[in-house]
Amino acid sequence: MPHSAAVNSERQPYLCDRLQGFGTTIFTEMTRLAIEHQAVNLGQGFPNFDGPGFLKEAAIAAIGRTDGTNQYRRMAGLMELTTAIAEHQQRFWGLSYEPGSEVSVFAGATEAIFATLQALLNPGDEVVVFEPYYDSYRASIAMAGATARFVTLRAPSFTYDPQELEQAITPRTRIILLNTPHNPTGKVFSRSELEHIAGLCRRHNLIAVTDEVYEHLVYDGQHTCLASLPGMRERTVVISSAGKSFSMTGWKVGHTCASEQISAAIRCAHQFITFCVPGPFQLAAAAAYRAPDSYFRDLVQTFKSRRDRLCEGLDKLGLKVLVPAGTYFVLTDIRPLGFTSDVEFCRMLPQKVGVAAIPPSAFYSQSDDGSHLVRWAFCKTEDVIDEALTRLQKLPSLAAK
Ligand code: PMP
Ligand code: GLN
Repeated sequence: MPHSAAVNSERQPYLCDRLQGFGTTIFTEMTRLAIEHQAVNLGQGFPNFDGPGFLKEAAIAAIGRTDGTNQYRRMAGLMELTTAIAEHQQRFWGLSYEPGSEVSVFAGATEAIFATLQALLNPGDEVVVFEPYYDSYRASIAMAGATARFVTLRAPSFTYDPQELEQAITPRTRIILLNTPHNPTGKVFSRSELEHIAGLCRRHNLIAVTDEVYEHLVYDGQHTCLASLPGMRERTVVISSAGKSFSMTGWKVGHTCASEQISAAIRCAHQFITFCVPGPFQLAAAAAYRAPDSYFRDLVQTFKSRRDRLCEGLDKLGLKVLVPAGTYFVLTDIRPLGFTSDVEFCRMLPQKVGVAAIPPSAFYSQSDDGSHLVRWAFCKTEDVIDEALTRLQKLPSLAAK
């Protein structure tokens, strides 16, 4: 059975059973189509601009060092970086972690998620995952020999049914995997939802893994770390990465914050996956996490105005916009323009309109649940957003045919 709407999801002759059906990620596929048709790429979530110059200068200066920075580094991450992350965690979320034993560095949040799941799951264990989900979760769970159980966030509000969550927990459940702010819906989990989830973790003795890569991209409401709720710090693995907060998605410097014992388990997996992350980018990320509060305020302001610009434009085209509270993605319902399949829509779009987007059915276990939605990225400069909106004016005429 295919795992997702990924394009090459037919059986591959050499691929192991665990990975059959995963195909090529939807991000790769849509970026390929964007390049082929010279489309404006509002698909894969990467900014069309780089993060602040002082970070590049920090990376360049670090490459120039002759003190071993360019050689293998401490397996769990440079102390300069783990210390900066611990300070950041305290400054923004009031959580205190010991940099030597409780903060670890990975090749992006992707590796942090992978290492965490490989370290904590036995074959046959179950992980409760909210869908739509970030695509790597499901593959990482499969590679650990575990099983995902899905709880659906339903449009338009993307709340979940508390009973559905409670029923998804079985004696085999080991982890609840949560992403807030949430990709692709832009949902920011509310405090009362987090309290409910925390209560279930405590009652069933579960570990929470929280993917918080969009922690600084919240426009309405505020981000709450599940780990900050009573009794949760000791049973939560907080995951984030410098990619989104500092607009350097290619740097791939991610981290976990967790208790010493959980961190020790995750490090055991990490030492055999990548062992360590490039030293110069770790030093640059350390400078990033020490950026002044004004940097983070400006980031939110800039992205909020881009969100509003794209949302207004998509709304004027006649799409139903589900305004995101956070992240840098917006979902629209495509049915008002007469489209019914997100996959067909997104495959047609680069060639016929010159814009690329992402079909969210790739992020649902039952792909029909997402087939009326399309995800657009607004981590782009205003000129790019405007060019995409100009090209998209063709949409209503295409729908009529
Ligand atoms: N989690 C979520 C929810 C994401 O959207 C992404 C992709 N940006 C990642 C994890 C991966 O982050 P990284 O690039 O740091 O591996
Ligand atoms: N997180 C990015 C997105 O959701 C994609 C990252 C990737 O391509 N692996 O668009």
